[in-house]
Amino acid sequence: MNPWIIITSSKFGKGAIAAVDIPKGTKIIQYKGKLVSKELGEKLSDKHRDQITPIGTGTLWLFTLNDNYDIDGSRQANEARYINHSCEPNCEAINYDDEEIWIESIKDIKKGEELNYDYGFDEPDERFPCFCGSKNCRGWIVSSEYEFKKGEKERLQKEYEEWLAEEGFTKD
Ligand SMILES: [Zn+2]
Repeated sequence: MNPWIIITSSKFGKGAIAAVDIPKGTKIIQYKGKLVSKELGEKLSDKHRDQITPIGTGTLWLFTLNDNYDIDGSRQANEARYINHSCEPNCEAINYDDEEIWIESIKDIKKGEELNYDYGFDEPDERFPCFCGSKNCRGWIVSSEYEFKKGEKERLQKEYEEWLAEEGFTKD
């Protein structure tokens, strides 16, 4: 059991909240999982993507560790995999020497607040709209460095809605 966090579930799936006040700069939890080759990592990534549903069951649990390995957070994993993305996060994922990834607080976090970090995806995917609710939400789970092309958000939205329809979900 990690002393800093409690895993909760809500209608948006699981999340992690602070069990106690967490000072800025705390190494909260290591992101653990099975080490897999890049090649397998890519396959698993595609497989996980195929399995997700619009209500958030199943998630992408692949983390880039270094040039040779990814971490598969669906096996040999810990609670770190339940920490959600935010466009305005209170934590960040820090890679130590391409060997360990730790989730660390970048702000003081009050007991009961949800923890999150920027997943930093290279590109947006129509299956991953962002519901973080922050003022500067980018709309899609993607690195803050990413620049949307003209009309791209509209295209993603259209593809997202088509996917919802295929899965039998109606827009409300
Ligand atoms: Zn967001």
